Amino acid sequence: MQAQSEYSGGCQCGAVRFQVRGELRDSSICHCRMCQKAFGAYYAPLVSVRGVQFAWTRGQPSHFQSSNLVRRGFCAQCGTPLTYEAPDGVAVAAGAFDQPGRLPPSRQYGMEARLSFMGGLDSLPSTRTDEDVESLEFLARIVSHQHPDHDTPHWPPRTRG
Ligand SMILES: [Zn+2]
Ligand SMILES: [Zn+2]
Repeated sequence: MQAQSEYSGGCQCGAVRFQVRGELRDSSICHCRMCQKAFGAYYAPLVSVRGVQFAWTRGQPSHFQSSNLVRRGFCAQCGTPLTYEAPDGVAVAAGAFDQPGRLPPSRQYGMEARLSFMGGLDSLPSTRTDEDVESLEFLARIVSHQHPDHDTPHWPPRTRG
């Protein structure tokens, strides 16, 4: 069980893992065009780790220098975006945390590039994965290769026998 002020996370494949000690309070989303590209998404959810203890506990991210002042960390094995690293501090991708629900955003940046449909998402037709009848056969066959949402002693898991 993690203490209130401890957090863990990592990339989708598990080659890169991290831990945080300290209270994370600065969670935000950035709509700027560079964040959209870096995350392959409509916006980037980022949590500042300024002022807390942050450590890579397995592997290290690779980097792309996205501007003269900022570099972006990602897992070279699976491509998961992991960091935004600026001279004034590092922010970690909120969705890469094992429990992203603990990190609700408290502000938005890059509003000049915010996509116009962002505000209307709640009105879209919505389905839970297990309610998607057309996908049931596919879902029954799927075997996840995603790292679980907790630290593991070995990765990839050792094969038995
Ligand atoms: Zn990975
Ligand atoms: Zn941005």
